[in-house]
Amino acid sequence: MEKWTKWIDEENGGIQLTNIDSFLNAIKCSWVKRYLDYTNTSKWKLFYQKILKKYGDSLLFECNISNTILHEIANENIFLSDVLSAWSDVTHNLKTETSSKTILWNNKDITSNNKTFFYKDWFERSIKYVDQLYDYRIKDFYSFDNICYIYGIPSNNFLKYYTLIKSVPLHIKSEINTNNTPCTQTTFKKKNKIFYTLQIKNPTENSKIQNKWQVLFGENELNWKHIFTMPYKATIESTLRNFHFKYIHRIIATNKYIFKCKLSNSNLCDFCSENIETIEHLFWECKHIRPIWNQLISFLEQHQLNVKLSFLNIDHIVIIDVQYHFEVNRCRNEEVNVK
Ligand SMILES: [Zn+2]
Repeated sequence: MEKWTKWIDEENGGIQLTNIDSFLNAIKCSWVKRYLDYTNTSKWKLFYQKILKKYGDSLLFECNISNTILHEIANENIFLSDVLSAWSDVTHNLKTETSSKTILWNNKDITSNNKTFFYKDWFERSIKYVDQLYDYRIKDFYSFDNICYIYGIPSNNFLKYYTLIKSVPLHIKSEINTNNTPCTQTTFKKKNKIFYTLQIKNPTENSKIQNKWQVLFGENELNWKHIFTMPYKATIESTLRNFHFKYIHRIIATNKYIFKCKLSNSNLCDFCSENIETIEHLFWECKHIRPIWNQLISFLEQHQLNVKLSFLNIDHIVIIDVQYHFEVNRCRNEEVNVK
């Protein structure tokens, strides 16, 4: 994490932290990289393989996945569908750059009654791309007889074949004709940094995270420039900066999230066990946390800083608090220098 924050900060002047969606996508993509690494024989993979099996397992990471499939997977495991969605967002850019061959299976552009195709036994007979069914000599799809002959497909699959080729839209068909040469496939050995830079080229204007906070704060306009740069102004301590960063970007693993990912038995707060452990609860509302804020109030009062603390003006309070500490630290440093 530290490496990342530094990298974003140094290279892009801190404010580029708004591209956190891209950053998170890059992390998710690196998870995919570990999943696709066949030398990695970790047990956790079995769990996900079980869900992805019906779509051809790792094949799915190469496909042009539909939202329907993402929803289906989300019902079984929300994390997996999250990762897949990030992965398809990121690799979409790669694919348009390299114009790789069109994959038949799980392709959102090739559907019948809103359903995508995946014939496991055909895939096992190495049928994967649309152009494998295409006869360049006659500029049309092979007859079913030819398909049976070439791939050893059983003759009772007649209807399956025709439903499939009838569902290939015209634009994909004409692409095969113009795109005669075999193209490079997307490789999975991309590094996180590449995934990240790739997305930085197409940054998302309004971060999802910013919207989430904005909903909480309602009409109170949030000063994002200030919020994003604050961790860097407030401290040089990298642990604290990391914490600020995680907090602002809501990537603190609360029980609410861990429970959602089915990694915990409860979504309740670890301290009070009474309320759902959201970021707001954990750092503001919880009865075990309140005393800290009350101490801050009396501390501020002692220093003639009469501020009303509430969650809605917390960003202002923290700013004042931070500025205060900033000043104190500066004075202390000067003292040290004098000595
Ligand atoms: Zn609590």
